[in-house]
Amino acid sequence: MTTSPIRHLAHLTWTDIQALDKHVGVVILPVGAIEQHGPHLPTLTDTLLVTHMLEAALPLLPDHVQAWALPPLNYGKSNEHTNFPGTMSLSAQTLTAVLHDIAASVHRAGFRRLAFMNGHGGNTAVLEAAARDIRLATGLMCFCLQAGLYMEAPFDMTEDEKKLGFHAGELETSLVLAIDPNLVHMERAVKHFAHYPETGTRLFYFGAASTAWLADDWSPHGVFGDATIATAEKGHALIENCAPKIAAVIQAISTFEVGGKAE
Ligand SMILES: [Zn+2]
Repeated sequence: MTTSPIRHLAHLTWTDIQALDKHVGVVILPVGAIEQHGPHLPTLTDTLLVTHMLEAALPLLPDHVQAWALPPLNYGKSNEHTNFPGTMSLSAQTLTAVLHDIAASVHRAGFRRLAFMNGHGGNTAVLEAAARDIRLATGLMCFCLQAGLYMEAPFDMTEDEKKLGFHAGELETSLVLAIDPNLVHMERAVKHFAHYPETGTRLFYFGAASTAWLADDWSPHGVFGDATIATAEKGHALIENCAPKIAAVIQAISTFEVGGKAE
């Protein structure tokens, strides 16, 4: 018999949930995506990674910290990958509506804090907009944890990978190799860095002026990065490096008060 706190909200009964002290504590909703990740990774990749990273972080929380994970939202907004078969995307409107409905239920149950743990860059704008609307509509304190939280590599990376590798490249491939190597086809792994027009300033993906890019505009196989140098060891190193940081963020959020008021 274990005395560790139950971290999965949906493992509790409604009476257990009613009885929780909710003044402090945070409910966490992982939000993934089902979308192409090159010819070598499963379309489940983003959902798999966000779920696994949260699972790695939760046991690191001290017992007194109140944090409860919801089952993941497997689908996200992935229409930049629509032209690759197997991508299953929600529209921004649908995703927004789902987030609002879940938030309303979290609020109705009496919780005060909700965090979206995001596993996919295409969800970011929707989650951030929804979080503010939810804050205003329900009074919940609402947070967005981004996938960058688990992409801080504790090993050297090439300049190209650091700047241009963000999808199905070294890091994501290494993580899936560490988590479920049977899902990876390394013999199909490729290296691809998109060639952007030289403008003298950093534009396009993450620069001062962004373009509404589609993955197939820039990569014929959907890879942005060098998947060929991925290893399970790098994946394990990433998980070990990032899980404590995620746990620290969750702990900080769990007692956060707007306006910085003390507990
Ligand atoms: Zn991904």
